[in-house]
Amino acid sequence: MTSPHSAILREVFGYEAFRGPQATIVHHVAAGGDALVLMPTGGGKSLCYQIPAIARQQQGHGTALVVSPLIALMHDQVGALREAGVEAAFLNSTLDAAEAAQVERRLADGALTLLYAAPERVTTPRFLAQLDALHARGKLSLFAIDEAHCVSQWGHDFRPEYRQLAVLHERYPDVPRIALTATADATTRADIVERLKLQDARRFVSSFDRPNIRYQVVEKREPLAQLLAFIRREHASEAGIVYCQSRRRVEEVAEALSAAGVAALAYHAGLDAATRQRHQDRFLREDGLVMVATIAFGMGIDKPDVRFVAHLDMPKNIEGYYQETGRAGRDGAAADAWMAYGLQDVVNQRRMIDESPADEDFKQVMRGKLDALLALAEATDCRRARLLAYFGETWPPAAAANTTDLIAEIEEPIRAEGRNDATNPGGYGFQGDAPWCGRCDNCMHPPAVWDGTDAARKLLSTVYRVQQQSGLGFGAGHIIDILRGKASDKMQQFGHERLSTFGLGAPYSEAQLRGVLRQLIATGAVAVDAHRFNTLQLTEGSRAVLRGDVPVRLRESLASGARSRRRRGDANAAVAPAAAALDAQAQARFAALKSWRAEVAKAHNLPAYVIFHDATLATIAERAPATLGDLQGIAGIGTAKLEKYGRDVLRAMQ
Ligand code: ADP
Ligand code: ZN
Repeated sequence: MTSPHSAILREVFGYEAFRGPQATIVHHVAAGGDALVLMPTGGGKSLCYQIPAIARQQQGHGTALVVSPLIALMHDQVGALREAGVEAAFLNSTLDAAEAAQVERRLADGALTLLYAAPERVTTPRFLAQLDALHARGKLSLFAIDEAHCVSQWGHDFRPEYRQLAVLHERYPDVPRIALTATADATTRADIVERLKLQDARRFVSSFDRPNIRYQVVEKREPLAQLLAFIRREHASEAGIVYCQSRRRVEEVAEALSAAGVAALAYHAGLDAATRQRHQDRFLREDGLVMVATIAFGMGIDKPDVRFVAHLDMPKNIEGYYQETGRAGRDGAAADAWMAYGLQDVVNQRRMIDESPADEDFKQVMRGKLDALLALAEATDCRRARLLAYFGETWPPAAAANTTDLIAEIEEPIRAEGRNDATNPGGYGFQGDAPWCGRCDNCMHPPAVWDGTDAARKLLSTVYRVQQQSGLGFGAGHIIDILRGKASDKMQQFGHERLSTFGLGAPYSEAQLRGVLRQLIATGAVAVDAHRFNTLQLTEGSRAVLRGDVPVRLRESLASGARSRRRRGDANAAVAPAAAALDAQAQARFAALKSWRAEVAKAHNLPAYVIFHDATLATIAERAPATLGDLQGIAGIGTAKLEKYGRDVLRAMQ
């Protein structure tokens, strides 16, 4: 199927098929329509305006203006376009006067297909005068407004300059516009439409599912050792981000990883700006680094080959979890979201809310959000389904309804194109009545579930009895010791050996009882009093559990690390081949290609992935092509790159 747009996709970008709604969006915008695009991170938003820009330039419509707030990204995006043979440039504060003048000259000469500019630049009288001149000659082809949520004060990244972008529509009403964001939230969406005057724009809302991300939550025991085992087993020498809650923890973990031979850097707000910048640059440009960071890190990082995001501490809510894990696998290849979760996380998060200076209403909202995340962490069913349900998405998708509706509106050639990439790439479905994704821990290895109701009741009555007996509260460890009938000085001192529940929980392991307690705290059936040495207290919610009205279901605790892992050959066939799946000879070729790429990237002052993605190199290494003809058609190799690098690639493999 060759529409002009698929031809551009193939020849310039080296990709075989559009993803999801890309084809429809490209068609609509290239034909001069306005669009609002909501697509998750990694969904492929850039092509939605880059291909229309190229197509419209070919038809004589001139230059597309891309407004983007992130200066570092502009540089890399323009670099990537140039590598693909597209005339692109950027205007921002990093250029000196002579460089800026040169870009302006090329703009005036009509030599640019795409111009990237920061919002504060776009709205200056001087720049608008240049746009006026282009517009008068009919050479202003398109406005693309990236990160459009910046226009909204409800979004997480409000930029007042974005408000002034409405001027583009007022001044040049006939120039098509496309606004793009990965923020799905309804209030923000309404604000974008209103502020940018996009009432008549067609809206394209994608599923926020990230099919190539595998979700897993492990029970936290020795978090560092667990993390290290996970990295060694699944992601040796691959790029990843490890999130921790405190600066001190970030430092400790980065040091421990480095000492264990994992190349790791630290990033948190306590480091000076130069160090932060240096670490970020290295993470973006070098291969296989692990960034250990607080949530200060990540905004605007669009490194496509982050293979895992690990949480050593639990985030505050599902929004944070989704955003942070979303930084994995933008390139569409297999990636992991891994979280270690334990009793202490629940206690800490609850305490942080209780102790925050916010008013009670706000705290109530925060508690609600935390509860939703705790439910996700405690879940024994599909995590993906739960995650998307939180964002109001019914999942699995009912037979790709979204795409089909859109496709019905446009003509035949696009129809076939749009179907190339189903909305259901992973073979999602149901098992019994339950949603099944095949790419989360609970779907891949359905956990054995045991009924913890009896243990929960015994725990609660112990909490009650110690309180009754001595008027004192006790912490988790001691309560569990009582139930398990463990002799100790403390036991004797308080006479807890005489409690009727002493030893009643002997059949349960300590890990099981901790799991029960964690879930009781997570669901609010027990409270932890931070002001009194983290002692346990009964709550309103305890009663229903004591009565046996609320069942407590827990996953069977797994013997640490003994669990077999199937990494390759996961359920999702849509995921590109992972480098680690290559045989020894292909591995050697892959390594050679990577070191060749590192040199080229360095010479061009660009991140390695701008030259070729890992997935492209892995495919080359796997197929071991002997001629330029064999290289052609490998995903990620367009005409310009074939000409520029084809021979070198063949040579690098020998
Ligand atoms: P977003 O801006 O939505 O986060 P990008 O536009 O950066 O996503 O795209 C994410 C990655 O997916 C990029 O590396 C891009 O090259 C790749 N990509 C986008 N569309 C396609 C496609 N149709 N086929 C293959 N790869 C694609
Ligand atoms: Zn699942």
